[in-house]
Amino acid sequence: MIPAGSLLTARDLRKTYGTTPALDGASFSVHPGEVVAVMGPSGSGKSTLLHCLAGIVTPDEGSVTYDGRELSALPDAERSALRRGDFGFVFQFGQLVPELTCVENVALPLRLDGVKRKQAERTALEWMRRLEVEQLAGRRPGEVSGGQGQRVAVARALVASPRVVFADEPTGALDSLSGERVMELLTESARTAGTAVVLVTHEARVAAYADRDIVVRDGRCRDLDHVA
Ligand code: ADP
Ligand code: MG
Repeated sequence: MIPAGSLLTARDLRKTYGTTPALDGASFSVHPGEVVAVMGPSGSGKSTLLHCLAGIVTPDEGSVTYDGRELSALPDAERSALRRGDFGFVFQFGQLVPELTCVENVALPLRLDGVKRKQAERTALEWMRRLEVEQLAGRRPGEVSGGQGQRVAVARALVASPRVVFADEPTGALDSLSGERVMELLTESARTAGTAVVLVTHEARVAAYADRDIVVRDGRCRDLDHVA
């Protein structure tokens, strides 16, 4: 059964790498516009869960349902289209394209979607303004700080108005002050846009920005709100 009103639901996911179990019966759900933190120690299965939810990794067992559709039942092309159109991603190290300027990086999801350069860059600049990095538009990723680069990455994740943003340790490589600013701006912008966020982190300080916390341990999820 899928929880009422849920946008993205994982049921009893199992995934093994060789003999290493990464997920061992993990269930999870996120509602539209909700910010959920996925916590847990290193190696507990957080990134694997996120990759399964985003349709990047196919679980050995269990199901992921997005907006009423079972991800594993979709043809590859449809799953990729979904990832491009409905999902946004922020990784630990921005993964910006070094040869492109910051505004070209932010505009990239729109360009891939067929939006004309001028329009795409106008929308990109608007998101960069919200993330307070508009002034870096013409620089390349190698010419900005770690915190600035992550804000550019957040702008890129949000530019195509996704319904879910997946963020895997988005502040993991930042000092605490710039990490907090990235989190403030990410959660503020997502809430304004009504975008759900699945936020993987092992830092309680970062999880404090979420509406709800989930803990992953040994490949299983525990909803902290349901613990007496
Ligand atoms: P976390 O993100 O919580 O640190 P992961 O999901 O990355 O945890 O990993 C869970 C377990 O699965 C770990 O034991 C890890 O070594 C293993 N694992 C994850 N991805 C791979 C992979 N591509 N190949 C082999 N083992 C993997
Ligand atoms: Mg990880």
